[in-house]
Amino acid sequence: MKIGVLALQGAFIEHNKMLANLGVTAVEVRLPHQLAELDGLIIPGGESTTIGKLASAYGLIKPLRQFAAAKPTWGTCAGMIFLAKDIGIEQQPILGSMDITVDRNAFGRQIHSFETDLAIAEIGDPPFHAVFIRAPVVTAVEASVNVLACLDDGRIVAVRQRHLLATAFHPELTDDLRLHGYFCGIVNGIL
Ligand code: GLN
Repeated sequence: MKIGVLALQGAFIEHNKMLANLGVTAVEVRLPHQLAELDGLIIPGGESTTIGKLASAYGLIKPLRQFAAAKPTWGTCAGMIFLAKDIGIEQQPILGSMDITVDRNAFGRQIHSFETDLAIAEIGDPPFHAVFIRAPVVTAVEASVNVLACLDDGRIVAVRQRHLLATAFHPELTDDLRLHGYFCGIVNGIL
């Protein structure tokens, strides 16, 4: 199994390390031809406007849309924004692959970043220690989207739509491999 990590900007090295710890070959993706022969792709957190601009500059928008239409793709934080179909009034390049509406910077500025323990039934106990850094939330989902995790106040922070996964937080900044393992299960066709 080969999983690509979009390596334009953001926390791609941390995702590579998580995949390596699971024994999975991680391929850094910066150009369209590097998507060939991948079984899945992770779009890291970082800054979605920058990721979008660089993806446009490198001719990656259409190839990434085609990839996400066919193969397992997981967006974390900025990656979630980049995957979403609707990000409100924001003007920036996005893939529009997932039927979710996302509110960028939903918790406010950097000083409002936080960590919390999240119950995620798909990965079981114990709760997942989730790091939110200028994080988005999902404000609306279409019927084909499953909600995987919510904050105590009900705001949606993890979703799955068939082979597509999105989390508002940064699992690659912990040493808990369970969500990466879960994504590998989707890539393997087991989950
Ligand atoms: N606030 C960032 C954005 O809008 C996302 C932050 C992150 O990925 N940690 O792209």
